[in-house]
Amino acid sequence: MIVVMNAAATPQQVQAVVDRMRLLGHSAQVIQGATRVVIAVSPNRGAPVRESLLMMPGVEDVLRITPEYKLVTRQAQPEPSSYAIAGTCIGGGCTIIAGPCSVENESALFETAQFMLARGVRLLRAGAYKPRTSPYSFQGLGERGLEMLGKVRERTGIGIVTEVLDADSVPRVEAVADILQVGTRNMQNYPLLRRLGHSRKPVLLKRGMAATVEEWLLAAEYILSGGNRQVILCERGIRTIADHARSTLDLSVIPVIKRLSHLPIIVDPSHGTGRAEYVPPMCRAALAAGADGLLIEVHPDPVNALSDGQQSLDFAAFEDLYSSLQRLAEALHVRIL
Ligand code: PEP
Ligand code: MN
Repeated sequence: MIVVMNAAATPQQVQAVVDRMRLLGHSAQVIQGATRVVIAVSPNRGAPVRESLLMMPGVEDVLRITPEYKLVTRQAQPEPSSYAIAGTCIGGGCTIIAGPCSVENESALFETAQFMLARGVRLLRAGAYKPRTSPYSFQGLGERGLEMLGKVRERTGIGIVTEVLDADSVPRVEAVADILQVGTRNMQNYPLLRRLGHSRKPVLLKRGMAATVEEWLLAAEYILSGGNRQVILCERGIRTIADHARSTLDLSVIPVIKRLSHLPIIVDPSHGTGRAEYVPPMCRAALAAGADGLLIEVHPDPVNALSDGQQSLDFAAFEDLYSSLQRLAEALHVRIL
């Protein structure tokens, strides 16, 4: 950590910072520049409190050298993380996760799972618990939906990705899920993140719709710091001034995350654009930008879907998209998983 003193700081103010740091058990080295002094602080015990340093007379700024997300940072692990899940893996290729927004009924879910498996897609998404903006919208089938997911998993062997809304329901969702999804509205639900830190299942952590990269990585740090190292980040669009699509899908975040963290990052162009016709081009763009996976809403009959039909691909559209992704992946020397 570097404490930058302002140009008018007195030698007494500099000494006061040094004394305080040493009192707290840190080492502090004064560096005299041409116009001002900076103090390099090496934490020996705990982290020095940045906010209280900023309040000391003569202090202009306090700069962190190591990020606060110390397990999530690439500095902690230079190799990218990858996890084996349900006969496939996340990390090391581009993994397709597809399925309806919500679990609606057993036969449609089963039909979708069969369709996906026949094409080599090994992970099925579908929400039993749905966090809806309006309390009057379809809220998901809850436990009944979980049961259906469990049956489809058992009968077909497909891996299940489904959302968990609160800490109390983690054990129920864990029983049927291969990946636990945390939705955009819950990215900063800290009790939930802490609870997921004790889970043995990988967590798909969606970016909050107004979250900075640092807030998102710190949310992931909550899970890793609890002992669960299997976190997958998911960009799903953010709120900006743009109103031509449901969200602004921030693909520029992919190389940024890869520079800052070892965690895999996947992209959800369905919620990111909100419209089925925009989904295929943004899937291809995400693949080209280096995404480790894609989360795509697919429904056998989007017009009659109980949620997010407008952004869901039907089977034929998914099939076209999937073959275009295969061709693009070949050109990019990336494996579709
Ligand atoms: C979903 O994946 O169905 C969902 C609710 O997504 P988000 O949390 O990104 O809105
Ligand atoms: Mn949805």
